[in-house]
Parts: sequence; C-alpha cells; structure tokens
Amino acid sequence: MFERIERVPGDAILGLIQAFKEDTNPQKVDLGVGVYRDAEGNTPVMRAVKEAEARLLKNESTKTYIGSHGSPAYGDAVLPLVLGADSPVLEAGRASATQSPGGTGALRLAADFIAGELPGRGIWVSDPTWPNHHGLFTAAGIALHKYPYVDADNRLDFDGMLAAFNKIPEGDVVVLHACCHNPTGFDLSAEQWRTLLEVVRERRLLPLIDFAYQGFGQGLDEDAYGVRLFAEQLDEVLITSSCSKNFGIYNERTGCLIAVAKNAEQMENVRSQFAVVARENYSNPPAHGGAIVSEILHDPELAAVWRDELTEMRDRVNTLRQEFVKALDPYGLAEKYACVGEQRGMFSYTGLTPDQVDRLRDEFGIYMVRSGRANVAGFSRENLPYITRAIAVVNG
Ligand code: PLP
Repeated sequence: MFERIERVPGDAILGLIQAFKEDTNPQKVDLGVGVYRDAEGNTPVMRAVKEAEARLLKNESTKTYIGSHGSPAYGDAVLPLVLGADSPVLEAGRASATQSPGGTGALRLAADFIAGELPGRGIWVSDPTWPNHHGLFTAAGIALHKYPYVDADNRLDFDGMLAAFNKIPEGDVVVLHACCHNPTGFDLSAEQWRTLLEVVRERRLLPLIDFAYQGFGQGLDEDAYGVRLFAEQLDEVLITSSCSKNFGIYNERTGCLIAVAKNAEQMENVRSQFAVVARENYSNPPAHGGAIVSEILHDPELAAVWRDELTEMRDRVNTLRQEFVKALDPYGLAEKYACVGEQRGMFSYTGLTPDQVDRLRDEFGIYMVRSGRANVAGFSRENLPYITRAIAVVNG
C-alpha cells in the first residue's frame, strides 16, 4: 500500500533552518524561525521558569494523568491573566479553561468542537494568517474562507476587513488574532476592536480569538484589550491561549481553550464537549508546562520576576523595530519601511518582495520567509547595519 504514497515537501521554515545551518557566511542572519531571540541570538530558559522547575522537581509527588481538562490550578492561573483579574466574565462564572498541548492543540480542540457541535458553519481567517490555521481547520472538515487584512501598499486593510465581515453568513466563525498578528505584525486599535465588535454582534458571528503572544505587543493587559472587550460584551466567544512564547516554554506544549458562554450552565455544557474532543485526540494534555505556569502565577514574587523578563523581551523587540527604521534613514528608506516601527510582536510583514528575499539570502546570507515576513527578534545592535545595508542594495 505504501508504494503509492507520495512524499510531500517539508515545511518551508524547516527548509530555511537547514539552509541557514549550511551557510558558511560568518555574517549570516536568521530572521525566519518564530521563536524569541536575545541579544546573543539565543532562546534561553527564563529565570522564573528555571526556578519553578526546581521547585517542581523537589515537590512533585506523582505523574498520574491530569484529566482531559488539564490542571485546575493552571486554569485558575491563566483565566485571570487572559480575561483580567477582576473580570466580570469570571465573576459571573461564564468562562472556563481546558488545558491543551500548546496553542495549536487549543485551536484543534476548537476546530473539532465547531465541526462536531456547530456543523455547517464556515470559518473565516485573515488573509494572510498563520499558515497552520488553514491546515488545522481544513483537517477538522470545516469550510475555510478568507477576509482581507493587508492592502497592496502593505498596510492594515481595516475597511476591507469590515466590508468582508458585513457579508459573512450569520453564525459563521471568525478567527481573530488578539495581538501581534502572525505573519504581518499589524494589530487592530482599540477603536477598531470596538467597531468590529458591533458587526460581530449584529451578524451573530462566533469569534475565535487566537491569543498566542500575550505580553509581546504592548503589555499583558494592553494586548488583551480585544479579548476582554469581546468576552465582556458578547454572550459567546472562544479563545485559544498559548504559553509557548510569553513563558518561553515552546517545547512543553502549554496552552488552553477558553469557552465564554452566556451563563455558567451553558459554559459547562460546552466545556463538557471539549473533554470529549480532547479524549479522542490525545486523552490528557502534558502536565509539566501547565505546572510551571501555575507555580509562577500563583507566587506573586515569582510572577513579578516573570513579568520583568517578559517586559525585557517586549522592550527589546520594540526598540529594535525603531532602530531598524532609523538605520534605514541614511539610505532614504526610513519611510518605505516605517511600518516595521509601527507593527507589534515578533513578526513583520516588511514589504520586501520574494525576489528581494531571495537576493538577501543568496548575496548576504539573510534568511526570511519569501512572503517578506521577518522575525524582528533576529535583529541585534550588531547585525542591524549589515541588514539595513543589504536591504538598501536589494532596493537599489
Ligand atoms: N497561533 C499563532 C498565530 C501562532 O503564531 C502560533 C505559534 O507560532 C500558535 C498559534 C501556536 O503556538 P503553540 O502551539 O506553539 O503554543
């Protein structure tokens, strides 16, 4: 039977990693892979995480199953982080968290729940979006559609997005990035979130908010603006939260699917379905990452250490964005790439064309995705002059 199986090409990013490894250029720069990098180009374990792990090692007494919803202590820690410590949604018992293997696992839970319990609903993702959204929702058997997000001049196309939302069939699901939009870095303003809320309410759409970068944009609370607004103002919202980036625990597979329902009764009904889907997919989520997050967030001192570290990461990225634009000024290109200074999060749609991306790779050893998406965390004070000179050359 296997004779007829065709090999598919690997993930484009994995190809990029390999090509970068093999490149002998001493000045090579990796702007491709979606993980945070510090000034030395490393992705270290955060101090708060190390401390939490030391405590866990000492105190952990069992490795028994944690159940399909995961650890209640993790859920108790993450819900206020996402929805706000004094959230009226939590006060009313309208929300719950089901721990999952990363944000990806949470998205898959949501996808299977929608496919099974809300059959016939289409799902709408931004164009462009994180490519895995396409695979995930399609694999679950949901009809996938796109709404515009970026215009031809590489700017957020909010008017286009709004016009599309006004035509989405009633009851369909709309996927929104809470902050740090991947791959573009273009986020909605508070006013735009409020405008969108009215359309979503009017057309009775179900928002599925992907919250993979809380704390990487403007701050833990600032980044949650849209999530909290929608959860407080609408009866029904799904939220997928990831701890991969903001705790730097990428390989611990830690996230959750949050159900916000009209009341506690309906929330429990929905939540019970998440357990079924989890059981059918992987039974229980992995425990370690949730235990780390819970250990940190339940200890005010350790939580303060973590917040400081996260602030450091966010500030580094935002500062590099400004320095990148400044470094392009002598080449007369600051205005052309000003968007990089305005975007938020780890990623930027730079506006570099696929041909320019190829030249940057071949002539300068600078690696990024052909869409022109750069991981800004790959910038450093040392490599910015080299990167900006190379960009000037491919613009020449
Ligand atoms: N959603 C978006 C937009 C992402 O960029 C990512 C990771 O890159 C995820 C979800 C999933 O994150 P993870 O499964 O690593 O927690």
